[in-house]
Amino acid sequence: MKPVRMSYKLLRYSGLPFLFREVLFRKGVRIIMFHDPGPEAMDRILEYLKERYTIITLDDFLSGRPTPPKALIITLDDGHKGNAALVPVFREHGVRPTIFLCAGLLDTKRHYWFLHEPVHGRAESLKSLPNKERLSQLASMGFDPEKEYEDRHALNAEEIRMMKEVVDLGSHGLLHPCLPTCTDQEAWNEIVASKELLEQHHGIRVNTFAFPNGDYCARDLDLVREAGYIAALTVDYGFNEPGTDPFRLKRLSVDDSGDLDALSVKVSGVWTLFRVVMGKQRISRLVNKVAQVPEHGSASTRAQGI
Ligand SMILES: [Zn+2]
Repeated sequence: MKPVRMSYKLLRYSGLPFLFREVLFRKGVRIIMFHDPGPEAMDRILEYLKERYTIITLDDFLSGRPTPPKALIITLDDGHKGNAALVPVFREHGVRPTIFLCAGLLDTKRHYWFLHEPVHGRAESLKSLPNKERLSQLASMGFDPEKEYEDRHALNAEEIRMMKEVVDLGSHGLLHPCLPTCTDQEAWNEIVASKELLEQHHGIRVNTFAFPNGDYCARDLDLVREAGYIAALTVDYGFNEPGTDPFRLKRLSVDDSGDLDALSVKVSGVWTLFRVVMGKQRISRLVNKVAQVPEHGSASTRAQGI
């Protein structure tokens, strides 16, 4: 068993997820983030979560009405075409998630830059570059953000029409750059123009925004307010409560795999807290020590998408 998976199992049965869920953060509202889980994984995930948490909608929380104990909100980022296959699962479980769409990819055959084949695996090093430099490096790898490729990455208009009955939709920008790397005009396009495109061209009611990669700066917070959104979601660590700034809602990134050990540890907030408190390097050393494998053998703890 890989060291990280072994750590999930040890932590799951350590009692910490139970302590976080039932005692320490019983009143907190957890928002969790997936990307492109398959229907079988999502079925397993929802079965697990419904036994332990009360799943509410993002709108429920934003309405200001009192939330139940152990409230949990499900979100999915990017608008991957695979999300359409989740509709029967959400319907069967009576769960209404929010999916954040990249408006510039919706109903096109454009590719997510970080999943395009020559780029995939090298995205991490490109994320923090100034946007112009990132685009220039992507071009040198043969990637064109506006090209219509053979295969489709994102949901199309027909799928969105079908999904609107079962899911809520928000904006994840146009083409998924990390906003703090953008110029003012680029950030305006991502935040303001994406809302207009979704509402006017696709007829989607949009009042929430999810920052790509969870990254934002003071300018981006001003833009989401000015654009008329009522809330924005980050990947800042923690749990939400009625007084939480609605433009900096906290979220926990969760694996798409449906591995219940990882799910238990991540949704409870235990894993991220460990990472925040201990730092990635130290946790990697700890994981390897527990598993008694050489340090260079550690598996990645990164989320599967951005
Ligand atoms: Zn994303």
